Amino acid sequence: MLKFCSLYSGSSGNSLFIENNDTKILVDAGVSCKKIIDALDHININPSDIDAILVTHEHTDHIQSVGTFSKKFDIPVYANEKTWNAIPKEIEKIGEKNICTFKTAEDFVIGNLVIHPFKTPHDAVESCGFTVSDGKTKMSIATDLGHVTPEINNCLKGSKFILLESNYEPEVLRICSYPSSLKSRISGPNGHLSNNLAGQTISSLIESGLATVMLGHLSKESNFPEMAYETVLSELEARKFKRGTIDLSVASRFEPSNLIEIK
Ligand SMILES: [Zn+2]
Ligand SMILES: [Zn+2]
Repeated sequence: MLKFCSLYSGSSGNSLFIENNDTKILVDAGVSCKKIIDALDHININPSDIDAILVTHEHTDHIQSVGTFSKKFDIPVYANEKTWNAIPKEIEKIGEKNICTFKTAEDFVIGNLVIHPFKTPHDAVESCGFTVSDGKTKMSIATDLGHVTPEINNCLKGSKFILLESNYEPEVLRICSYPSSLKSRISGPNGHLSNNLAGQTISSLIESGLATVMLGHLSKESNFPEMAYETVLSELEARKFKRGTIDLSVASRFEPSNLIEIK
């Protein structure tokens, strides 16, 4: 059975945990090594049991301790070639045998999990999200995307669970203290996903079997957990989905979520 835990999720740092029987992976290591170890301890996972770290893209909130964590526990790191080229300092720390390269849009296998990396529209060299399948159940991770392309929607279809970005509320972004250039970047087509777009995306996936969603990568300055939750629910209700149609929660930037069983 696939299990998922958001160790930390937000614009200040991201690391997600996925496991199935003997296979355990992290997606991103964008907080300190110590914080990841603490969060894994909280769900009784030994860091040296991690089989791989997948990297979505080169922004610091996703790679802060990738090199250190890999070196400390001798863990292979998977990224696409352009992303590897964008993180030379991390490469220096990672042993050669632990540098693994995937091609975006081509499946690869870690233990008993099949991973499919898909391209996301974001201001990074070649950012991606992942679908993860154990042959029976499929789940997806999609953060750091300015909009949802038809290709992404296709990839997400059939997921029982998604950790989906719900980054900002447009009105809060408009009045927050960010400089206007940053506001344009965030809300642009290669920035981040708004609460409304997250809700619309979820609506479009319910019929394909989506049952549980965790909203993630919330902005510190231009969103609030309750607001993300309510905006997403109102988008669902606007499309005649009743509250309770899906199990919806919001990932914390500060602490690990429960270890969710994806059935
Ligand atoms: Zn990013
Ligand atoms: Zn990010």
